Amino acid sequence: MQLMKKTMVGEKLIQKSGFNFVRNYPSFPLCHLQDGRICGSLTLSKEHIVNLFEYYERPMPREIITAIFGEMASDKLNPYTLFASIDSNNPQQVVQWFTHFGAPDGNVRFDTQEECYYPLEVFAKHVREINNVLTVIEALQSGAESIDAIMDDIVKQYHGYIPGHICGYKEIAEGVSDQIKDLFNKVNILDLSPADLGQGYVDALFQHYLSDICPCIMWRDKANGNQPSLAWTSGPMISQLYFMLALDITAGKMPRKCMNDKCHRYFTPARSSTRYCCDICKERAKQHRHYKRLKNEQDYQ
Ligand SMILES: [Zn+2]
Repeated sequence: MQLMKKTMVGEKLIQKSGFNFVRNYPSFPLCHLQDGRICGSLTLSKEHIVNLFEYYERPMPREIITAIFGEMASDKLNPYTLFASIDSNNPQQVVQWFTHFGAPDGNVRFDTQEECYYPLEVFAKHVREINNVLTVIEALQSGAESIDAIMDDIVKQYHGYIPGHICGYKEIAEGVSDQIKDLFNKVNILDLSPADLGQGYVDALFQHYLSDICPCIMWRDKANGNQPSLAWTSGPMISQLYFMLALDITAGKMPRKCMNDKCHRYFTPARSSTRYCCDICKERAKQHRHYKRLKNEQDYQ
């Protein structure tokens, strides 16, 4: 009996370690925003090294959510819904993201050996893109007619977008924008429907970022009795965010947009019936409905 129990515990651990992610990233402690750049220094000390998958498998710590969004924010966030929820025009949110997680791609540039910066416009582009992907997937899955307007807006976002040296992580930035540019160029020739275009857009981004995820060997896996285990690694952090999203979608765990009109942030629902990202949004939406009803009744009288 004792032996059986041991094996079961061991099996569980091995199963979990099958998804070890071995790539860590440096966070950007004590950074600040200046002239459209997030400036700081990379310390590479142990406490400032991040493994995003720790926050994917466990709930996101409340103190991180509070540091970025304040006390009132939702608890139902994982790394990519948190990233998508950031308002890149809000310095507090941007700086706190960098303080806890660092740069979303390898585009950190060095002023001196330790001082470095990251362009805010690149950060904003990544946030916008992941929101686009979430919006398109949601619309495609629900068969919403709004896909026309959504794709119209997305194509406009890229209009005049110059691929290339905007992003220091050249291959990633150019790869994505070229692929997308190609797709958008074909719209008129191929007469793609907005739904097909949306599908193509999401595919282009996933294809690009997921091709960056690859298996590797973790030589001493504690959970596997210090034996070698299969693990995963990736290039920039942004690839991991897309990978997490891909894992969730294919496991039937779709992120959802908060139904509160004033919020509209994506969150990770625990149950399929959850419509609001937090209790405050639920309460506000209820109040809003109540006032609307009152007003309607008054107008009617
Ligand atoms: Zn909300």
